[in-house]
Amino acid sequence: MKSNILGVKVDAVNMDGALSKIEQYILSGRPHHVITLNAEILYTAQDDPALLEIINSAHLITPDGAGIVWAAKHLGQPVPERVTGIDLMLHLMYRAEERGWRVFLYGAAPGVAEEAAAKLMEKHPELKIVGISHGYLDDEGEVKLRQEVRDAEPHVLLAALGAPKQEYWIQEHLGALSVPVNMGVGGSFDVIAGRVRRAPLWMQRARLEWLYRLIQEPKRYKRMLNLPKFMLAVYKEGKS
Ligand code: UDP
Repeated sequence: MKSNILGVKVDAVNMDGALSKIEQYILSGRPHHVITLNAEILYTAQDDPALLEIINSAHLITPDGAGIVWAAKHLGQPVPERVTGIDLMLHLMYRAEERGWRVFLYGAAPGVAEEAAAKLMEKHPELKIVGISHGYLDDEGEVKLRQEVRDAEPHVLLAALGAPKQEYWIQEHLGALSVPVNMGVGGSFDVIAGRVRRAPLWMQRARLEWLYRLIQEPKRYKRMLNLPKFMLAVYKEGKS
């Protein structure tokens, strides 16, 4: 089942459903792009046909955030729950440890991915992290990184470059890298490394995670102005 929101077909999956699809992708061995889509990016894509095409060519698009869940409900095609990038990544690590899947971490400022990897290994001692790189490479560094990825043959490549940069990057290299599961995870490495705090659970439940992020990082306000615009566009679509 899919929910059509402003021209994007979001998969009406819960966490378990998303994990099952990811497992199928790994079994298939073919490259897949997983996007955890939030309202800001969906709204940005309205004026960016290339981004819209990338999103629509992804194999799995999960509803990341209260805005998408609200929109799906408003348009009469509800999705079961939020499946955010960081939650999906953390759940995926359990399965990766259990199944022996190899994981590559790419992105965030120098040192952060290593710290995130150390935190993940504390929790998942059997997890196979087969490569780590920061996300500020020059052209030469990027070429090297892509070779490292090919050599490491990960099952899962997590790209933490921020949206939509990570979506462009994954799409561009999907075929050549041939990793079964490629997923953009935004600022998740910063959170896992403990450099950025996630909103407390009560705020997440009250759908106020966006407010917490705004207080922590006021420079996000410009991006966040997309949220009311997104809601208005959905409201209009619901009427037409
Ligand atoms: N980042 C990166 N390379 C870049 C730009 C950004 O690795 O060229 C990283 C940045 O250090 C941060 C993440 O991408 O860790 C972006 O986090 P943000 O919370 O802004 O992303 P979002 O979750 O909003 O997509």
